[in-house]
Amino acid sequence: MAGGITFTLDFEDHWADPSGELRYEQLAWEVLGWLDSLGVRGSWYFVGELGSRHPDLVAAVGAAGHEVGVHGWTHTPLPELTPARFRDDARRAKGVLEDLSGTEVAGFRAPTYSLVKESVWATELLAEEGYRYSSGVSSQRNPLWWYPGVPPHPFRWPSGLLETSGQFARVAGFVYYFGGGTFLRATPWWMVREGFDQWAEQGLAFVYCHPYDFDPGEERFRIPDVPAVLSPLLWAGRRNMWSRVGALLADAAPPLLERIDEMEALAVAGGANPISLSASGDVCGPQAWAERRHLPVSSTAGLGSLKQRWRGPTPADAVRSRRGRIGPQTIANTKERT
Ligand SMILES: [Zn+2]
Repeated sequence: MAGGITFTLDFEDHWADPSGELRYEQLAWEVLGWLDSLGVRGSWYFVGELGSRHPDLVAAVGAAGHEVGVHGWTHTPLPELTPARFRDDARRAKGVLEDLSGTEVAGFRAPTYSLVKESVWATELLAEEGYRYSSGVSSQRNPLWWYPGVPPHPFRWPSGLLETSGQFARVAGFVYYFGGGTFLRATPWWMVREGFDQWAEQGLAFVYCHPYDFDPGEERFRIPDVPAVLSPLLWAGRRNMWSRVGALLADAAPPLLERIDEMEALAVAGGANPISLSASGDVCGPQAWAERRHLPVSSTAGLGSLKQRWRGPTPADAVRSRRGRIGPQTIANTKERT
């Protein structure tokens, strides 16, 4: 039923050095041009406040046929917001981004997977505010946030809002995530490639990116609020990003909003249309998906040399596919932060 991989990008600046140069905007323009050269349309989730500072970019993203969605008004985990504040933010971001992009804004992605039991009220408010789907929950424990018990495939919240969650894979007893960010850049390529192959075949696959993922030239600094030992991970594998995402997008699928019917069909097929929640937000009732948590990855055939299996396609491949334009180098001309 399903097939292909949707490109998604979270437009944010939360890792940037507050005193450093401004890079995320130009990176986003580079990525937009690159997608155009590949003939790929995807889903762009804007932090509303940042989007309002870059109206030309939001307009260009909408005009190019991409979906424009919301990644909060600010990049704040949902449990740190009150429901009233969240409603105001969701309404404001939707309105501003619809005005700037000239498109319907109906998708929401919670910052850092922060749609969790403590913030499940957000699913009611999003439905009331006219959002049609969310893509901001994790079914498995990870370094950020997660919601125990939710399906690992698309499902519907009791409010009527659809959800499309990230997938995890398992190889030899080791469970891993591969769908975006550091996981996508730094995991051995064969594990990423085979995870996506299975995900695209069995579910609704999407790759998630941030502007900084595409920026191997950014000076390293200690990221606030991230343990010192983890901070370097935010730079790991950035040289792989253009080529890896380019390879995955050889099998590109439309924006997530255009895959709403697929999302619903998978929710029905997975016995999760809707899921049941207790008053305190625990997932209850029959859980048809309880036995199917991870995509089993075992084969490692067909990816070429040992180096390619670990590193993936070379950056040179990505350059060729971009008709000679090289994002990580043109980023040298960035604006000074004011
Ligand atoms: Zn984010």
